[in-house]
Parts: sequence; structure tokens; C-alpha cells
Amino acid sequence: MQQRTHTQPQQPSPFAAPWPEGVIARYLTLVGATVDLRGRDENTSATCTGCGERITLFGERRTRELAQAHAERCRALPRPEAQR
Ligand SMILES: [Zn+2]
Repeated sequence: MQQRTHTQPQQPSPFAAPWPEGVIARYLTLVGATVDLRGRDENTSATCTGCGERITLFGERRTRELAQAHAERCRALPRPEAQR
């Protein structure tokens, strides 16, 4: 009986990869980068791992909305070191 085994390492996926320290939410962009939320309440900030855009000073609720909106339109590819 022939066994087919794939030993190629899988591409790390944002779904499987452990989240960086302090990240409370991630929004996946169209090209595989993420917009990471950190903090809480008025100290919430979001950073795009693609283009590097930072969203701060809006409070958690608004920051989530802005992060979602940014993730929907950002086309910047994630930097390789952000994919570990
Ligand atoms: Zn971006």
C-alpha cells in the first residue's frame, strides 16, 4: 500500500500562528497581513503588520471599527518577520 506523506512545512497561517504578546484582536487583510489590537478601553491601539499604520486614541470600540475598515482595504503585504 502506497503512502503519500507530505513533509513540506505548511505556510504559517494567521489562524494557526500564536498571537504576539498583548494582542487582544486581529483583523486579517486581503493579502494575509493582520491589523493587531492591543490594550483596552481608552488605551487601545491597532497596528497593521502590512503597511505599519497605527491607529490610536480612539478608544477600544472605535479602534476595532477602524482596524476592521483598514483590514478590508489595505493591500500591503506582511513583512517577512511578521509571519514567524
Ligand atoms: Zn495596512
